[in-house]
Amino acid sequence: MRAIHAAMAALLALAVVGCKVTTGTRATPLGVSVESTEASEGTQVAMLDEGTGESTSPPTTVVHADYGTDLDMDAISDMVIHISTKIGPRPAGSKGLRRTARWIRAELADLDYDAEITEFTLPGEMTGMNVTAATPADGPRLVLAAHMDTVRDCPCANDDASGIASMIEILRLVKERGLDTEIPLQLVFLGAEEEIEGFEGHGYSAIKLMEQMPEAERARMGAAIWLDKLGRGPDFLALVIEGTDNSASEMVLDALGDGEPKPEVKTVPRWSEEMAFEDAGIPTVWLEWAKDRHLHKSTDTWESIEWDHVAAAADATLKVALAKAWVDAE
Ligand SMILES: [Zn+2]
Repeated sequence: MRAIHAAMAALLALAVVGCKVTTGTRATPLGVSVESTEASEGTQVAMLDEGTGESTSPPTTVVHADYGTDLDMDAISDMVIHISTKIGPRPAGSKGLRRTARWIRAELADLDYDAEITEFTLPGEMTGMNVTAATPADGPRLVLAAHMDTVRDCPCANDDASGIASMIEILRLVKERGLDTEIPLQLVFLGAEEEIEGFEGHGYSAIKLMEQMPEAERARMGAAIWLDKLGRGPDFLALVIEGTDNSASEMVLDALGDGEPKPEVKTVPRWSEEMAFEDAGIPTVWLEWAKDRHLHKSTDTWESIEWDHVAAAADATLKVALAKAWVDAE
């Protein structure tokens, strides 16, 4: 805990001081050079704690870096850090999950959005919940989905705080540009996607979401992008379920144009969370960076998140939203 506090203090110092020196550049999957920056005062703050032997270095590639996206990566990283450290593990039905749902509702309220928390009963009688919100624009919606729940004892910064934070920041940017009355988006934060006792496989809350959603709302779901594990691993993937319409993955590739990096489209067997969407006839693509070595471990912490990976996946999603490709396809 102490290391986290020190790192947060250093982060705060960076934010307050805001003075930076360029220490070098490095290549990123986005194909841009990222300036590694550090604040001299911030560095001093970090160095004060060096005697403890704990890692206190500030996340120098998070603050002020240019990741080649209009999205505010500082805001995304702040949210990932909050969810994974201040809330921590959040298994389905737990206090952590409830806190996550309320925190998301509060974040969306700051953007003048009324998020709805829908409860349902989990196998084993605990209370599960999903959170949804939508822009006021008319027409078929692009659904963005991420999951709030985690396996036990996992801060799960990557899986899936990275998806949650990206969705909130995408909504903020769309609203800031005054486009939320033109771009129909629905945000879906799912509360029981990991394995739970009494249910085989994944995706309990997605099934509940589809059951509980009023038919008129469901009928407006035009396409869906699942954002899950955006921040670690070597392979950027767009997963499509075997035998289903691949229009959603094409939408992502089209929106990216010549932009890099492009996710590799992979077909996966009928499996997992997004099946509930496909079963309802909603073309769905699942974006992730695959082969995260910290997956479902207590070591899935924010410190080792590769923010350029998050930027790539979130920016691809933003581009789909701005292009309104799913509306033209109707
Ligand atoms: Zn996940």
